[in-house]
Amino acid sequence: MKRIGAHVSASGGVYNAPLNAAKIGAKAFALFTKNQKQWKAKPLSEADIEKFKENCLREGFSADFILPHDAYLINLGSPEPESLEKSRAAFFEEMQRCGLLGLKYLNFHPGSHKKKLSDEECLVLIAESVNMALERTAGVTAVIENTAGQGGNVGYKFEHLAYLIDRVEDKERIGVCLDTCHTFAAGYDLRTAEVYEETMKQFAEIVGFEYLKGMHINDSKVELGSRKDRHHSIGKGLLGLETFKLIVNDPRLEEMPLILETIDETLWAEEIELLYSLISS
Ligand SMILES: [Zn+2]
Ligand SMILES: [Zn+2]
Repeated sequence: MKRIGAHVSASGGVYNAPLNAAKIGAKAFALFTKNQKQWKAKPLSEADIEKFKENCLREGFSADFILPHDAYLINLGSPEPESLEKSRAAFFEEMQRCGLLGLKYLNFHPGSHKKKLSDEECLVLIAESVNMALERTAGVTAVIENTAGQGGNVGYKFEHLAYLIDRVEDKERIGVCLDTCHTFAAGYDLRTAEVYEETMKQFAEIVGFEYLKGMHINDSKVELGSRKDRHHSIGKGLLGLETFKLIVNDPRLEEMPLILETIDETLWAEEIELLYSLISS
């Protein structure tokens, strides 16, 4: 089945995320395991971990359908040694937090060269960063999110994702997450059956569906190839409902988290219902 959900709030404690997800009828969810705007986090307590696991179990969320997202501050391809080191330490800590919570994925934005390095130099640093984190942890897969390619961000081409996978030593613990808004903004069309198939075919050839661990389901405020990251509510942006109909009916996207990061969270329950209603079989 399709596992549609949203990136829900974990405020008050990580254990609130599965409850917030259940409230909107989600069958998957994403969360930040710490404040995404701060470097430091207080360690997870034994009690918080237990409560999180209990709530996930009770609401029917297995780790297969939970896609935690790392903090926005982290830049694993930073051209500045100090910020690179800080990012690597923070990413390692987030991997550990996911492990403690019994989670199996950590979704991350590859990184930005801030126009001080080439795309390739930045990708080399990112792969190195991921290898370092994977070496020091166990059980959690690092899930690269494709980007819109805004402001020096790498990961906007499928070739970038493939390049990273190629350089990561532990192929069992590297995956990717496709964000529909980022994909479109990066220049890959999804709006009709024909172009959707063409984009997915490219993805299959360059990256491979075996690496796809989840998707972010967002409409886009900006045009194809605009290289800007501006999410919109489902059906209200330039992707339009046809795109989402193709996604929810795509057999390659079964049993993986399909996560809304749309701009109006008061619509999430409706959007989830709408997406399920688009399934034709
Ligand atoms: Zn993201
Ligand atoms: Zn996303």
